[in-house]
Amino acid sequence: MYICHVCGFNKLDEPPWGDDGKTASFSICSCCGVEFGYEDATEKGLINYRDKWLNNGAKWFNESKRPESWDVQEQLKRINFR
Ligand SMILES: [Zn+2]
Repeated sequence: MYICHVCGFNKLDEPPWGDDGKTASFSICSCCGVEFGYEDATEKGLINYRDKWLNNGAKWFNESKRPESWDVQEQLKRINFR
């Protein structure tokens, strides 16, 4: 399992930026809905996307993947975001 560096969701099926960390998978995070290699291609883009996602109420892209007791703040701690 791999972690999304935008939202901290840690149950991704494949590494978002490949095994070498440089090859974007262009898959979509089930939680924040970011497309790896697109919205997160730059540090600024990543932060903008995260802010937008949080400001929109941190909605799940794929609700069926949402754990029963899910807490966005707990999840964000995984990526050292306050
Ligand atoms: Zn995410």
